[in-house]
Amino acid sequence: MSAHLYDALRACFPQRDKPFLTTPDGRVVSYGELEEGSGRLASALRGLGVEPGDRVAVQVEKSPEAVLLYLACLRAGAVFLPLNTAYTPAEIGYFLGDAGPKVFVCDPARRGKLTDAANEASVAHIETLDAQGRGSLTDKARRASAKFTNASREPDDLAAILYTSGTTGRSKGAMLTQENLASNARTLVDYWGFGPNDVLLHALPIYHTHGLFVALNTLLMAGGSLLFLPRFDADTVIRLLPKATSMMAVPTFYTRLLQHPELDPALVKHMRLFTSGSAPLLAETHREWGAKTGHSVLERYGMTETNMNTSNPYEGERIPGAVGFPLPEVSLRIVDPETGAPIARGEVGMIEVAGPNVFKGYWRMPEKTAEEFTKDGYFKTGDLGRMDEKGYVYIVGRGKDLVITGGFNVYPKEVETEIDALPGVVESAVIGVPHPDFGEGVTAVVVRKQGATIDEREISRALDARLAKFKLPKRILFADNLPRNAMGKVQKNELRSTYQDLYKKAAS
Ligand code: AMP
Repeated sequence: MSAHLYDALRACFPQRDKPFLTTPDGRVVSYGELEEGSGRLASALRGLGVEPGDRVAVQVEKSPEAVLLYLACLRAGAVFLPLNTAYTPAEIGYFLGDAGPKVFVCDPARRGKLTDAANEASVAHIETLDAQGRGSLTDKARRASAKFTNASREPDDLAAILYTSGTTGRSKGAMLTQENLASNARTLVDYWGFGPNDVLLHALPIYHTHGLFVALNTLLMAGGSLLFLPRFDADTVIRLLPKATSMMAVPTFYTRLLQHPELDPALVKHMRLFTSGSAPLLAETHREWGAKTGHSVLERYGMTETNMNTSNPYEGERIPGAVGFPLPEVSLRIVDPETGAPIARGEVGMIEVAGPNVFKGYWRMPEKTAEEFTKDGYFKTGDLGRMDEKGYVYIVGRGKDLVITGGFNVYPKEVETEIDALPGVVESAVIGVPHPDFGEGVTAVVVRKQGATIDEREISRALDARLAKFKLPKRILFADNLPRNAMGKVQKNELRSTYQDLYKKAAS
């Protein structure tokens, strides 16, 4: 049997001297070097005793070597386990204890702080790798053979475990198989028209499904190239866009680039594709980007557990605020969140998906896994959405963000959309806050445009005419910005905790 995912990617590699990636300071890693480097790293891992099925946990800065390490894990048959660079030693301790990796690779500067956690979890080897690609693992790889016989893997064998961000309870390890990743990469190459002439501007983190699988696997399977930025930086993106054909982004990239004085149609005229995902792209941002650049952003929807589920069309209308159609091979349905029964087209319900993209389950959590799948094999995404007459899917929010006030359901997105449309408003987040009379009080946190003076009373008055009374925020508060994580997701948990006593105070 073949090594599956790596072999599937390998089959699409172009000639050896073609650039696989170029960094902003001009370093080029060719496809030949990718093969050699990942071969050496795979040999080094094997030298450390890593066997197929062993986990390799990695908390390192983004670098070309970190990408090669991911590919080396695939080749060695190891289960790649990337960890957010922001995690603290205590959090790392939890992940290492839960996943039981054979090897943990971290930044040399953090090794001292992380050694106890690794020892406690009985990790056999701690190795290091820094942002420049230096470290103990690189030293071992340099001495190891570039020739490596890829481990034999079945489609259902694990390729990676990605821990979910865990906003409710502890993080869970999503087990992704070789075929989950391979099938999604094949679909995206085809659906988004990627080919060997593509140069993808890559400014996303590579510990998350978006930058790691959506971007890297898709480009590798197309035999294309990357402009590989260590992180998002608007000036660097503007400088490099003329050399790119496509960019995959989170919504904040677009809002920041829109503020850049050098963004104009000439700069991006040659571009083939701009995509957005991981968090909702405001319809207004979609329109502004279109007006400013002449490009319609292609918004898509996915998650760690399922890879990509839906996408606006490559050819055809890309609708602001919609996440598009279910991808080929993905079955998507919208059901009553309480009963699981199908609901009428256009109604809001829970999104469920099935297909080769959907993960195998949560690592060492068989009961949690069973709870999250229906009897007929659909995964309950936890996202609320609706499908319009033409089949476009719209995300209304996370199920757990639903506000229940006086027994009525309020979908935050509906209220946010109304507030965001008001002059002087940049964006808003609507949350439920404990309320003595209503259970939860609808509460809005609003970011105003610079110099705007719109206040609580004016917003209330404007909403009054547009929303049923029970949906109206009981309080409207103002903030300079909304708390977001690295993927641009608004951290509603954080807002709920900041304002948890809001109505207590008012009532006493
Ligand atoms: P993650 O597992 O970190 O990728 O987060 C997945 C979640 O992000 C999904 O379940 C959605 O709630 C959200 N998400 C991803 N893409 C979109 C999108 N285009 N619009 C709205 N929400 C999205």
